[in-house]
Amino acid sequence: MPVPGLPPYDDTNVFARILRGEIPSKRIYEDEWAVAFHDIAPQAPVHVLVIPRGKYCSFADFSASASAEEIVGFTRAVGRIARELGLEAAGYRVIANMGQHSGQEVPHYHVHILAGRPLGRMLVRV
Ligand code: 5GP
Repeated sequence: MPVPGLPPYDDTNVFARILRGEIPSKRIYEDEWAVAFHDIAPQAPVHVLVIPRGKYCSFADFSASASAEEIVGFTRAVGRIARELGLEAAGYRVIANMGQHSGQEVPHYHVHILAGRPLGRMLVRV
């Protein structure tokens, strides 16, 4: 069910195509709820994208429309991936961009897991 005020899901977006196997990706994890792969343009030594299997445009869409099972399954997958990558000791950052001001490029909900060096302040002051 589309969220009022948000665009409908676009089945041609690049992550939908990765999910369908139409575009290659370096997959590192998948389960019933989530698929994870390396970002094509990494911004840190570790830069992994985690996407739900369901068709959600953004965090706003996912948080409003996904079932409790999907939300728990996806969230646990993100934590598990970070743990399995050995990131917990040094720490990591999880980011979700939503909409124009965030710079969201791909309209399929995803989180970025960034790690592998000190990541600095969360936002650069401009
Ligand atoms: P956003 O700005 O939407 O939060 O992040 C989109 C991310 O997807 C960017 O970091 C970008 O590098 C990554 N990306 C875009 N196209 C592809 C692709 O075809 N393959 C992979 N692995 N990552 C992609």
